[in-house]
Parts: sequence; structure tokens; C-alpha cells
Amino acid sequence: MTTETHEFQVEARQLLQMVIHSVYSSKDVFLRELISNASDALDKLRLETLRDDTLGADVSDLHIGIEADTEARTLTVRDNGIGMSYDEVVQLIGTIANSGTAKFLQAWKESEDTGATDSLIGQFGIGFYSAFMVADKVTLLTRRAGECQGTRWTSNGEGTYMIETVDEAPQGTSVTLLLKPADTENQLHDYTSAGKIQEIVKRYSDFITWPIRMAAQTTTAESGEDGADTLPEPETLNSMKALWARSRDEVCDDEYHELYKHISHDWMDPLETFRLQAEGTFEYQALLFIPSHAQHDLFMQGYNRGIQLYVKRVLIMEDCEALLPPYLRFVKGVVDAHDLSLNVSREILQQDRQIQMMRRRLTKKVLATIRDLMSNAPERYATLWREFGRALKEGLLSDFDNRDAILSVCSFPSTHDKNEPTLLKQYVERMKDGQEHIYYLTGESRQAIENSPHMEAFQAKGMEVLLLTDPVDEVWVDAVPAFDGKQLRSVAKGDVDLGTAEDEKATETAREKLQQEYAELLTWMTDRLGQDVKEVRLSSRLTVSPACLVSDTHDITPALENMYRAMGQDVAYTKRILELNPGHALISGLNKAHTEGQNYAETDLDEMVELVYGLALLAEGGMPDDPSRFMRLVADRVERTLRGAHNRPTTEV
Ligand code: ADP
Repeated sequence: MTTETHEFQVEARQLLQMVIHSVYSSKDVFLRELISNASDALDKLRLETLRDDTLGADVSDLHIGIEADTEARTLTVRDNGIGMSYDEVVQLIGTIANSGTAKFLQAWKESEDTGATDSLIGQFGIGFYSAFMVADKVTLLTRRAGECQGTRWTSNGEGTYMIETVDEAPQGTSVTLLLKPADTENQLHDYTSAGKIQEIVKRYSDFITWPIRMAAQTTTAESGEDGADTLPEPETLNSMKALWARSRDEVCDDEYHELYKHISHDWMDPLETFRLQAEGTFEYQALLFIPSHAQHDLFMQGYNRGIQLYVKRVLIMEDCEALLPPYLRFVKGVVDAHDLSLNVSREILQQDRQIQMMRRRLTKKVLATIRDLMSNAPERYATLWREFGRALKEGLLSDFDNRDAILSVCSFPSTHDKNEPTLLKQYVERMKDGQEHIYYLTGESRQAIENSPHMEAFQAKGMEVLLLTDPVDEVWVDAVPAFDGKQLRSVAKGDVDLGTAEDEKATETAREKLQQEYAELLTWMTDRLGQDVKEVRLSSRLTVSPACLVSDTHDITPALENMYRAMGQDVAYTKRILELNPGHALISGLNKAHTEGQNYAETDLDEMVELVYGLALLAEGGMPDDPSRFMRLVADRVERTLRGAHNRPTTEV
């Protein structure tokens, strides 16, 4: 057989370098990772044979085996699961598909100087490669179930690996580590010691549902004359007890956390663990976790949702999306139902009445758990919101039944506090006398929103505004009419009326007067800008800026329009309203110029209108249709002002 030498993909090589040279203190976890992969491979094989009985795989005694050789200093973890084809080995072991790795490596480079690489490994997790923390060389021999030939892969983790096809290989995968010398000072224990292995398996992998067996130690000295005939029975190291089926006081947090790490491939402890037990006609148990950080692909299409579905302790589906709505896709865990068919399909599950009942109950349980965190563990709630708030907000659009429950756990940045987001409940408690609505403004960044002209009157009156910067905010605010009986109102939409009842009358009279003064200008400008805006009117929301653009109360915003377009939908351009600030010298000047029109050329007035409209666009982060023309108009005005300023002294002299 020809042996080929391949190079690791760049990211994989960098990652390996880091693993090899790391001083990660919990090196024991390499065994957890290898066992976790072996257990997954056994699950996969069993699921595949359920679907396809022509696979020709041997499923008679599925298990994980551990063999240690003290003298040769090797440790082997073996499974008779699904195995890998040649191409899969190249793909899965030689490259890193995980796009979060780039982020990880970047963080690593930055932290190299500070010595923080250790905690990084824990945060990101390194799976199979963790073997190189304890081994100088790793050999993987694998044969995919149903295929004839096997593949051997060998590497010392330094840039390249060797790979060859082999004729003889048992079904499944064995990973053999040539261990580094035992060195207790650097926490490199003797991983060939039966006691050590037993301890690690008990601590990290006890709940694994497949037997983890350890053969008696093979040392050359022990193999007596008739050694081959009297091989002692291998010992099963794990209890295989399903944690969710054990009573609550029997299971400690660490055990839950290890199960979490196995099913989620996360190396960090979860933020919260909770259980649900349903008795009666449709019995099931759920053990669920909220992770402490979002997976890098949470917002990518095809994200794998982590609820595993078991039927009486047997895994039947790895990522059962029917059990929780998409906006809760970050929740991990296990649901064990008692009365489902073992080979139930995804399509059937989606429609199954009992599954739908479970989904409703699980959803409520997750939301109640989040509410508890919010009330009792503000710091953990803050982490949850930071990591998963964006996903949760999707539920405001899709889960009508639980909308109020979701709204009550949402928090938003607000003008009230620069750093701390606020709950709607807190906002309502702070509402001023006479304030009827919950005000918000959407936009790209906090800074852009805060400085938006739409905010001026609200700032002047000290009225709190929610600052919504997630793309999903644009959408849900249109779908959610109110919270606690208070309407949600955009400060960039419709008319604003921030006056109190007392000064209402005075304002009304003043407004009418202004309205008369400006009536002609407004009509004329509406006509001039008719292509772009539906109306030009006087504003009550501006105190500093000359003009701004607002949407009509029920119209969609330009940002939402753009989002729909980006999704390929055909949306008509919705004209907005140009509001003018009569208190600004530019606007009062324009009114004067228009009334005394004879002093100005018509094009001059037209240009001024164009400038006002362009300024309103710029103020909200938009762009005039023809930026270079706009620039010329501005440059021309500035130049004229300069000339005026320059001329004045000379004419006066
Ligand atoms: P992860 O397990 O988090 O995906 P790993 O680096 O540990 O990352 O493994 C990469 C992939 O290699 C696994 O997803 C799996 O497809 C494959 N793999 C690893 N170990 C085994 C095994 N024992 N049997 C079959 N496939 C395996």
C-alpha cells in the first residue's frame, strides 16, 4: 500500500502547534474527548442501521474499549462504531471546518503574550486534537461500517500526517497514543495506569450510554505461557446510568456538566441546568441546558439544534428540531420519551400531537427558567441575554402564544443608562407623568441613534428612549403592539406630542400661528420634493437640527425596506415625510427667502430645498441620491459665504 504524506490545513496546523505547546492544566480531558467521539460513532452507527438495514455492519456488541501498555507507553481508545472512509479522515481529521476556529486562533495570537492561552482552550474546545496534549504521536486506524478497506493515519502533530489504505482493519476506529513521558510536575500523569484511567472515566464519562471496557493491562512481563487462553474478563468502567432517569439528589452538578459537554461539544460549563418530568399518559423526561456562550454558527443557516431525542434510554435522533421552536435553538439537552416508535421519522415528529404538546411544555419551561434567572441571578441573566438575546427576540415574531413571556425577559439598551440595558418593566416604572407610550428608535449603532435628530425633543424633555440596534429589532417592533398596555412607538415615525395637558393649549395656538406663516413654503416644498417625500411639514421633535425625515405611523422604515430587498423581495419605495424645524435659522431664513422670492433666482431656492433634504438624509446616516452633486452645492455655498466674508470689509472700507 502506498503511504502518502499530507499537510494539515493551515488552521489545523496552527491549532496543533498551540495544543502541543500548551500548558493547559486539565490534560485529563483528552480521554473524555476520545471517548465522546467514540460514543458519537456508536450512536451514528446504530441510527444508520435503523434507517438502512442493508448496511452490513456488525452491531452485535457495540462498545468502547480502552487498552493501555505501560511498557510501550501506549494508550488505545477503540470503538466498533461507524468509522471513517479515507476521504472522511482527510476531511475530518486533517482540516477544521469549524469557522469559529479563525476567531479562536486570532484570540490565541493576541493572548500569547499574556499567557491566557490556557483558558482559551477551555473556551473553544479542541476535540480530537487534545490527544496531542499528552502524546508524541497519534495513530488512527479506522474502517467505515459497510466498507472493505480501512485507513491508517499517523501524525506527531508537527505540520504533516501520513495516511494509507489498509486491507485489514476492524469496523470502527481505534486511536492509539504514544504517550509523552510521565511527568507529574507538569501534570502529565501516567495515563497507562489502570487507576488513573478508571478515575478519569468515572469523572468525565460515567453517563456514556455505551459500555466503556478496559482490557487487563498488557505488559510483556505478565504474559505467561498460557496467557492467550486465560485473558481476564474486561471490566466495564462506567455505570451507563442516564442522568435524567436518576433522582435529582443522586446527581451532582459536575455530572450534569460532563453530560452537557459531551452532547454539546462545548468545553465550558453550562450557564444553567434544568429538568422536567412529565407523568401520565405520555411520559417523558427532559434534561436541558442553557450554554454559557453562543456557538459561532448560531445565526447561520442550517444551525444544528442540540436536543437529543431518546426513547427509553436509546438515542433515536441527534438534533430533534421538533422539540423546541427555532428561537430557542441554543438550548441543549436530552428528552427521553417512553411511548414513541424507535424509527419515527422527522416528518412524522413534526406533526405528532404528543410531540407538539411536549414542545409547548418545554418552551414554557425554558422561558420560565430564563425568568427565574432574571429575577434571582442577574449576572447570569445578563450573560444569557448578551449571548442569546438576539435569538430570543426572533420569538417575538414567531411565537404568538408566548409573546408576553418573551417580552418580559427581553432587555434593551436605553438612554437611561449607558451601560446597563433595561427591562420593559423597568422602563414602564420610570415613565414620566403623562407619558403614554414606550419610545424606541432603531438604527445601526448606539452612537448613530443617540445623535439622530429624531431624538432631540426626547432628550430635551429627558424622556427615555430604547436604542434598538439588532437587525431583528426592525422587524419585531412592527409586530408587537404593546407591553403592559403601553404602545411601542418609534420616535422616527408619525407625529410626536410630548406636551403635557397644561401647556397643550398654549402650544396649540403657537403651532397654528407657525402653520400659517409657513403654509406657503410647505406647499411649495412638498411640490418641489414630490418625487422623494410625501409631505413637508413642521416638526415638533427637533430642537437643534434644521430638518429630519420621518416615516408615516404605519409605513415601513427604510431599514426594513432594505432588509426585504436584501432577502430578494420586491418592495416599492415608501416615501417619507420631511419635517422642518422652524426654530432653526436655516429654516426661518428659507421661509423668508421664499416669501420675498423676488430677491432670489428660482434655481437658488430650488438648490436650498435640495440642500435641506440632503442634510436630513445625512443626519440619519443616509446618502443623497447624487452625492457629488450635493457636494458641489455645499462647496458652492461655502465658497460664496467665504467670498461674502472676505468682501465685506473691503466694501465697507
Ligand atoms: P468534534 O467531535 O467536536 O466534531 P473532533 O476534532 O473531536 O471534533 O472530531 C472531528 C470529527 O472526526 C468528528 O466530528 C467525527 O466526524 C470524526 N471522528 C472523530 N473521532 C471519530 C471516531 N472515533 N469515529 C468516527 N468518527 C470520528
